[in-house]
Parts: sequence; C-alpha cells; structure tokens
Amino acid sequence: MADKKSDNFNFPPVGGGKNNKGAKNGSYWLYILLFAVIIGINFFPSTPEPVPTTWETVKSTMLEKGDVVKLVLWRLEYRVDVYLKGEKIEEYPDLVAHGFKNKSAGPHYSYKVATVESFDAAIDQAKATLPGAENVERDYEDSKSWWDNGLVQLLLMTAIFIGFWLFIMRRVNRGAGGGPGGVFSVGKSKAKLFDRESNVKITFKDVAGLAEAKQEVEEIVSFLKSPGKYTKLGGKIPKGALLVGPPGTGKTLMAKAMAGEANVPFFSMSGSDFVEMFVGVGASRVRDLFKQAKEKAPCIVFIDEIDAIGRARGKNPNMGANDERENTLNQLLTEMDGFETNSGVIIIGATNRADILDSALLRAGRFDRQIYVDLPELKDREEIFKVHLRPLKLDPDVDCAFLAKQTPGFSGADIANVSNEAALIAARKEKEAVTKQDFLDAIDRIVGGLENRSKVIKMSEKKAIAYHEAGHATVSWLLEHAHPLLKVTIVPRGKALGAAWYLPRERQITTKEQLLDEMCAVLGGRAAEELVFGQVSTGDQNDLEKATKQAYAMVSIFGMSDKVGMLSYYDSTGHNDFSFTKPYSEKTAELIDAEVKELVTAAYARAKKILDEHQEQHRQVAELLIEREVIFSDDLEQILGKRPWNEEEENTTQPDEVSL
Ligand code: ADP
Repeated sequence: MADKKSDNFNFPPVGGGKNNKGAKNGSYWLYILLFAVIIGINFFPSTPEPVPTTWETVKSTMLEKGDVVKLVLWRLEYRVDVYLKGEKIEEYPDLVAHGFKNKSAGPHYSYKVATVESFDAAIDQAKATLPGAENVERDYEDSKSWWDNGLVQLLLMTAIFIGFWLFIMRRVNRGAGGGPGGVFSVGKSKAKLFDRESNVKITFKDVAGLAEAKQEVEEIVSFLKSPGKYTKLGGKIPKGALLVGPPGTGKTLMAKAMAGEANVPFFSMSGSDFVEMFVGVGASRVRDLFKQAKEKAPCIVFIDEIDAIGRARGKNPNMGANDERENTLNQLLTEMDGFETNSGVIIIGATNRADILDSALLRAGRFDRQIYVDLPELKDREEIFKVHLRPLKLDPDVDCAFLAKQTPGFSGADIANVSNEAALIAARKEKEAVTKQDFLDAIDRIVGGLENRSKVIKMSEKKAIAYHEAGHATVSWLLEHAHPLLKVTIVPRGKALGAAWYLPRERQITTKEQLLDEMCAVLGGRAAEELVFGQVSTGDQNDLEKATKQAYAMVSIFGMSDKVGMLSYYDSTGHNDFSFTKPYSEKTAELIDAEVKELVTAAYARAKKILDEHQEQHRQVAELLIEREVIFSDDLEQILGKRPWNEEEENTTQPDEVSL
C-alpha cells in the first residue's frame, strides 16, 4: 500500500461536536476530593512525630534496660533519632500519650547533640559501661533529600492524579463528541477527509503510464468539476468506478491523485475500516460515511481493498458466521442505490480480487465502470522509472529504457522500491551519484533476496549446486522456447543457494511447446544431479513444485492433454460455493494425475537426454561456475555455441530464478 504518511486530513465535527460541560463541571468536586485525600495522607501521617528528650534520659532509662535498637544521627541537624524495641513502647507513658502504640514504627524519641564527636564519645562510653547498650546500632544520615520532602511528594502526586484524570476525561469527551476513537464513536465512519485545506500534493503527473486508466479517472474528475457539460445532453453521471489490478500497480496512488486534482472533498478509507468486533458497526459506519459524503457533495469516496466487505455473499444461510460482513455489504448496496438525493457523490473502489466481489456490487448503477490497472508494460515501466528517478542524483550512464527492459513483471511499487534500493546501495558505497550497476544490484536483490556470502557451504555442496545450476543453464540454452538466460550464480541469495536468471519474453499467450520447454529447463537441475552424482537431493523441491503445478495447469486448466481433452476445470468467477468438491469424477481425477505424471516424466527424460548428449559442455559450465561463482550468457555462448534461434528482440523480461 502506499505510504500513508501524507494522509494529513482534518476531521469534520460530526454530531455537532457535542458540548460536555456537564461532565466537566461534575468532575470538579472529584478534583477537590482527591486533593483533600492527598493532603490528609501527607499532613496526618500514620506514625506520630518522635518525642523530644535528652541524652541523659536515654542513657539512664532506655539504654540501661536494653530497650534501644538503633540510634541515628542526622549530621546536619545535630539531632539523634532513637528507635526502641516495638514491644517495649507501652512501657513509656509519654510515648503512649503521644499516640504511639505497641509495635509502632520509629523513630520514637529524638534529642540534640552538640557535635558528631560528642555523640560518638557518649555512645562509646555507654557501650563500655552499660550491658543493655552493647548491641545498639549506630547510624549516620545526611539531611533528608528533596524527595523526602513532604511538599514535593505532595505536589508530584497531585500532578500525576490530575494528569491521569484529564487523560480519562479527554478520552470520554472525545468519544461522546464523535471524534475518532473513544468507545461512543464506534459506529462513526473512520474515513479520512482530504479537502482544499488539506495538503494533497499528488497529481496525475505523479502517476506514470496507465494511460487508459488515467483517462477514465480524469473523466470522473471532470464530471465533478463541471457536471453540466455531461448532464446537458441527458446523460447521468456514473455512481462509481472500481479500480481492479494486482497489488502495487498504483490504484491508491491514482485515487490520491484524484484527490489532488479534483479539488472536491475526498473521503478515503479501507474496506477493513468497516470491520469491528461489535455487531452492526459496519453497517452503521457505511451509513455515517454516506451521510458525511452527502453533506459535502460533490465529492469522491474512496474505499481501498473493497473486497474486505464486498466479497460474494454465501448462498447457504446456515453458514452464517459472516453475517456481520453481509450486513455491511447490504448497507453499502442500499446506500449506493439510494443515490438520487446524493448525486455528486462518486464512489471509487480498489481491489485486486474483482473475481470474488459480489455480483450485486458490480451491476450497472453501482460500480458502473471497472478500470483495469494492470502490471506496467515496457513503455509504462520506462515512464514509472522516470517519475521515481526524478529525485535521485544519477550518473549519466543510467538509462530508463534499459532499466525498463530489465524489470518485466515489476509493478509500480517494485520499481519505486528498486529506485530507492539503488540509491541506498550507492550511498553505502560512498558514491557521488547512482550508477547503472547500483540499479542492477538493486534488481537482483529485490528478485532474489539479499546476497548471503557468509553462508557456510561445504565444497561438496558447492559442487552439487554448481552442477545443478549448470544443468538448468545448459538445458535452457539448448531449447528453442526456453527463456533466454541472463546469468547463472551460485552465490546464496535469500533462501536460494544458487540461481539461473532468465530474461523471460513478455508474451500475451504461451504455446504448449513453450510450456513444455520451460518445464524441461526447470527439471534440468535435478537431471544434472542424477547424471553426474547418481543421486538426487532435497534441493530440487522448488523445481519439482514448479514443474508439477505447471503440468496440472496444462492438463486441467488449459486443456492441453489429449487424453483428458479440451476441458478446463478452472472457475474464474470464484462464486462456487462447493469448492471443496471437484467438478470432475474420480475417474477423471485419476486420468489427470496420470497425465500430469507423464508430462513431468517426459520432460525430465528430455532434460536428461540433452545433458547426456552435452556432458562435456555441462561439465565445463559447472567448473567455470565453481571457479567464478557468477557466469553470464557470453560465457555460455563460448562453451555451448550461439543459440541458433532468432532471439526476438521485442521484449525482454523478468529475471526469473530457478533455485536449488
Ligand atoms: P496499490 O495498487 O496496491 O494500491 P499503490 O497505489 O499503493 O498500489 O502503489 C504503491 C507505490 O508504488 C506508490 O506509492 C508509488 O510510489 C508506486 N507506483 C505504483 N504505480 C505507479 C505509477 N503508475 N506511477 C508512479 N508510481 C507508481
């Protein structure tokens, strides 16, 4: 998703910003009560003050009887605190008269001394002469710290209490006032409002490529700006448009650009914002959103990830676990229908799963228009690179067209990521400007993950990886329809221990031969291991998974198996409520399994045959790989010769990896 940092917005005071004077007035007496309690605690301490006395009395009565536990001298105050044994307190009537009880904590008495030395000398003497004074503890303290000062403590505690109280009151008030958060505002819409005051700087200039989609969206903006132009001839302004496309292709960006361009208020929220743990909240939020929108019409309401609420409703009422979501959707449908009064409100939805949306949502009169925002093609990628390279300091060798060629299958978000990553890599290398190599490194990193040169790999493993990758490379080099190879590496990257990087051709349709050749190349790694080492390893799991999935797709989706026939068991509507049952019989299932197995086995046998016939070249590729760790298509051309097929120039493609 787009970064939400720029989402500065102001929230309209819904519900008239209710005044909570009552609550505030009511809370004053509470402050006073709290204050009184704190003062009470501090000024009426639970233990009474020590009783003044003299050294003579202490010595002749308490020390003599052995009642004293401890004497503490406060050096700066020349005062000594006397602590008595708890059980002896009641034997001293003046203590009892002062409020001390049996076992009350001390100090119980205090007396003054002239100097520290005189205090010490007196005690030393007492200890020497009086048997009861032998075990008396002696302690020294400096003046009480500021913390021990009762007034500071009092102020601090009061401040904490008041702060806490204000915090609670603020939250409650906010809830009642209808602002975001707070328990009373749960049914309010969480939409963010962008309007003239809020600073949305994104415009259509920031959205590169996507010409058709942009045109549609621009039209919607112009509907809002000058509706008369369209309604003059009797046309109606559309109620909604749905932006559909894979993640990261710029749907949110487009919506933000609309906000920037339209100059009408723009409400933005995500489908999941409707969902809360309370029942009925979703529907209430939808109502609230439309109420706000109507007040601000003409305006745009943008609902991102609309599939969170717009998913097709189940046909089986007994499985009603998702009732809440359905209620929310029903409310949305109703609101979108009841638009007569709120013309001028246009709903824009965004999703990457249009197939699972409820058909009622997609019918004309609701989301009348579906705008496809697809992965960018070569030309669009170049445009997107231009947008994202604008803020970078570039070396003259950086060429957007070249970068676009290297990044097939990348979404706009990926390209933004590559540009940023390249800048970071260049900065790490202390360069003055970002170079082409930094971009290539960034692409490698994004496709394959971080290089992990510190991974400990045994020599025998390195050899196995090299032969495996050389197997992929050799087989694909010798197959007409396999993707052209870019480079082969055995430097561990992310989870992969090695990879063959291809630049796949960007094609709209793929033939059976192309699929078979690709499958064969994918299995080249395992075939190489078996031929060279006579054993296979767990490292092939990823390849096998790819090949098996491809084979299943060929047989059960693309109708490419003669035995199963021209049947496709794929349900693109996603509306099948009984998806846990297969749409074919057990017998067909067995046939599909058998066909898949045959396809994979045949592709594997073909890969083995190719490697067997080119054993020497395969060995050379593998040895070169062990030596250099990364080899390029030029090295392969030297070993295996030029590929005889005309490499179509048209498009190049995405570094696809085949990992060990
Ligand atoms: P989504 O389609 O998932 O909503 P976003 O709109 O959030 O994707 O795109 C994420 C980021 O990718 C954007 O913030 C932007 O930087 C970049 N991006 C995507 N498409 C484009 C585009 N056509 N032009 C420029 N930048 C793009």
